[in-house]
Amino acid sequence: MSMWSTLRRGEPGYDEARRGLSASAVVPDLHPRTVVRVGAGREGGQGAEGVRAALAAAEREGLRVTVRSGGHSASFAALRNDVVAIDVRALDGVEVDPVAGTAVVGPGTTSLAAARALHGTGWSFPVGHRATVGLGGFLLAGGNGWNHGVWGSACESVLGADVVLADGRLVHLDAADPAAYAALRGAGPGFPGVVTAFHLRLWPEQRVQRRILSFPAARAAEVGAWADHLAAVIDPAVELTLFLAPPDSPMHPDLDEPALTVAATAYADDPAATEALLAPVDETLPPGAVVVLAGPSDIPTMVETETAPPGLGVVAQQAWTTEGYAAVLPDLAATMTRCPSPWSSILVSSSSYRRAAPPATDTAYLPLGTLTVAAYSNWRPGDRDEDNRRWAGDAVEAIGSRWSGHYVGELDLLRRPDRLAACFPGGGLARIDEVRRRLDPAGRFADFPGRC
Ligand SMILES: Cc1cc2nc3c(=O)[nH]c(=O)nc-3n(C[C@H](O)[C@H](O)[C@H](O)COP(=O)(O)OP(=O)(O)OC[C@H]3O[C@@H](n4cnc5c(N)ncnc54)[C@H](O)[C@@H]3O)c2cc1C
Repeated sequence: MSMWSTLRRGEPGYDEARRGLSASAVVPDLHPRTVVRVGAGREGGQGAEGVRAALAAAEREGLRVTVRSGGHSASFAALRNDVVAIDVRALDGVEVDPVAGTAVVGPGTTSLAAARALHGTGWSFPVGHRATVGLGGFLLAGGNGWNHGVWGSACESVLGADVVLADGRLVHLDAADPAAYAALRGAGPGFPGVVTAFHLRLWPEQRVQRRILSFPAARAAEVGAWADHLAAVIDPAVELTLFLAPPDSPMHPDLDEPALTVAATAYADDPAATEALLAPVDETLPPGAVVVLAGPSDIPTMVETETAPPGLGVVAQQAWTTEGYAAVLPDLAATMTRCPSPWSSILVSSSSYRRAAPPATDTAYLPLGTLTVAAYSNWRPGDRDEDNRRWAGDAVEAIGSRWSGHYVGELDLLRRPDRLAACFPGGGLARIDEVRRRLDPAGRFADFPGRC
């Protein structure tokens, strides 16, 4: 059985493969020359043979290469004109070494698949918050996952990776090559190679306890001030994330105005300890809070709960800010009244800032503020496509004067190519470019979206 398949523009099945380069049901009108779907299996060197064939074809035709794992790029990074797009979603699976506390994972493994594979093994990992996000792009971009305050950004737990370089060599990149290792941990769509497997450090599995509270978004300033107080006093083992939803959100059928949800998620070894971590929430609860959930959970359940239904258009935009919840929430809440789809939302979280240990510095990814603000447009295809496409970017622009940087995993570079350098301050972008020139001297891998 062939370990890869190739579809050229104009061939039957091409358009489906082209659209499939993104997880969004609405995609830009961009057309790769060829889409190569790489299969899995040990016989194919876990996909290396298919990747090599795609790279050789690109070289013969003088084309650049893009890569798709889970397809959640906020910039539709795999979908470009006249490239060879390599779809590695079939390179999935999680192999746990329970003695070493490590795992080898395929880049096409989704958050939900990884969470389920680890659940009950005694080990865990900060996978992405939504079910279908691919570990490939998530780990390369940085990875703001569960229990961020203790487990850190997911890329900090990447020990190394098996990578096919532009010349077809399969190499193992790790801390022995510090510059390439840093790029592997944060360069996102600027990484110059195809990762066929990640080697991960795992974390001891924890008990999870949650409080999910809902308020009318009109109370954004007051609830934001409460969240700022909590963020200052609560243990880093409690993730504190606030969500804004539009008036007609199916998540809040009882409200006919925008909603503000506060999710406090505590991680500890036993139920009593998780309850104790949440005491500052329970003891200071603002009046009128609607308690949506107060009880135990686990990572697979949380990943499934936070996921919008399939078949929606998806566009994201993100910015860091050094301000507090109370300062940014009212302006963000105001954008909710103009939101054209009931499925869209804005997430505001301090979890990547409030850390039990300082973040690693040998990563291209850096948290650049006290809060991350990420807006997601999710909408039914054909329902005001243009308005919905624009909304996520407009929502984050509402606090544009207070941005302190961006996360390349959630920044829409097609809309804001001028913000690329703000993902990698302090010479970070130049260091990635140096790695690109060294590992890919012919420039076979497409540049960051918006910088072609
Ligand atoms: C609904 C949604 C929820 C999200 N939730 C989170 C979250 O909780 N936390 C968070 O940090 N981010 C989140 N993100 C952002 C997400 O992590 C990034 O968009 C990430 O790039 C998605 O990875 P992917 O594999 O699904 O995407 P893809 O589109 O497949 O990959 C993005 C780009 O990464 C590079 N890449 C991917 N795989 C490989 C590979 N194997 N080898 C080489 N290069 C590769 C390619 O340049 C590719 O075009 C979310 C995005 C969406 C749309």
